[in-house]
Amino acid sequence: MAENILELRRVDKLFGDFVAVERIDLTVAEGEFFTIVGPSGSGKTTMIRMLVGMDGPTRGDILLRGERINDVPANQRPTCMVFQSLALFPHKTVGENIEFPLKLRGVLPHDRRARALELLAQLHLPEAYYDRRIHQCSGGERQRVALARALAFDPEVLFFDEPLSALDYRLRKTLEKELKDIQRKTGKTFVYITHSIEEAMVMSDRIAIMRDGRLVQVGSPDEIYHRPRNGFVAQFMGEVNAFEVKQGDDGTVRDAATAACYPRPDTVVTPAGDLMIVRPERMRILAPGETAEATLEGRVTNQYVLGPRTQYQVQAGDRQLLVEMLASGVDHAVNDQVRVGWSARDALLLSA
Ligand code: ATP
Repeated sequence: MAENILELRRVDKLFGDFVAVERIDLTVAEGEFFTIVGPSGSGKTTMIRMLVGMDGPTRGDILLRGERINDVPANQRPTCMVFQSLALFPHKTVGENIEFPLKLRGVLPHDRRARALELLAQLHLPEAYYDRRIHQCSGGERQRVALARALAFDPEVLFFDEPLSALDYRLRKTLEKELKDIQRKTGKTFVYITHSIEEAMVMSDRIAIMRDGRLVQVGSPDEIYHRPRNGFVAQFMGEVNAFEVKQGDDGTVRDAATAACYPRPDTVVTPAGDLMIVRPERMRILAPGETAEATLEGRVTNQYVLGPRTQYQVQAGDRQLLVEMLASGVDHAVNDQVRVGWSARDALLLSA
């Protein structure tokens, strides 16, 4: 079990009377890829500013390896931040940028160059880039240089503030995997903030979900996806079909739409609540004669091709369902009457 490198104890941050971040208890283990994710205004930037040392908490403590660092300024902390804006020196070369932290520490030119070339290779940048100026590099290349420079600092923790959000989709997808790969290879602790849950899921060992300045859930991507604590988390993690449910005196839970009965699941950590969620990929359009524990009839109103999968929008009475299935060759066209089915065990019972 890795040691905790970073810890927040009962941290609050107020701006005047406004509570931006409230009652945060959090630990990050050494060597972990930890991501803080949440919608706009949930308090991510406020959190990372306190973690980096650009701002102090109003109450509570921040500890690095057990030492209280609340009042230690950013430039005196053994941590380093990679910004969305990158903060590279645009007119200097890639090599000069990467070597900057080493120069500050008085590392000799020959050794600096050797380390910079090593980092270039690690970040899949050709050696020839050493002499290229930053303004001659593409967005993705600059991103790699910024990361190389951060690694040259050899910090205890690397913080990332939405570093990929300005890049196009393909490049972002490539860099997400590269970042994860570099984190694993270097064994460094990465703390990352993003509003993109997809990004968080691909890279992180653990994810903290924030809403209105509070932590709603902390767990592995798998835990959060399959065992969301409440309706907010479930819906933040991806598209869902939501149903109201009622619990009867006998302890069983029924949804009003299908009258199907859901056993109170003991595999789900959440207590049976007043909301039931079925993810689109857990629903299917039934073949003629096929049965399922819960079924609804409806009409296909839209069809979206997602590559290997197809998503169908189905109007069932006053309810709109999203059904996502592997493209099987048996396509269902818009206006087709269909039966949608799912298994009781694929339903998540949550508090709204
Ligand atoms: P985004 O994804 O849009 O950047 P965020 O999750 O990073 O949002 P924060 O920037 O941390 O959110 O802001 C959290 C809340 O605190 C917001 O309501 C914001 O308006 C408020 N806030 C942040 N900084 C200040 C400040 N310096 N003074 C007053 N209020 C602030």
